[in-house]
Amino acid sequence: MPDTEPKCPNCGIEGIEHFASKRSVQSSQTREPWFFVIYCDACGHVYSIMPKHVFAETRTRVVVREESDDQTSKD
Ligand SMILES: [Zn+2]
Repeated sequence: MPDTEPKCPNCGIEGIEHFASKRSVQSSQTREPWFFVIYCDACGHVYSIMPKHVFAETRTRVVVREESDDQTSKD
């Protein structure tokens, strides 16, 4: 486990619990999200935007609460 908590560059809050995710459902014929937006739930600063396939590859180091809605694999 990494011991470095994510830190918001805008308001300075630390901790993965303050980073929320939203998925884009815009303009998709399959209703699949194109990308995920990771943002600070304290100030709304956008921390990262990841295309869906990149999100899947990097999800081991970026933990997102809504992941279980879309990823059925368990760690
Ligand atoms: Zn913030």
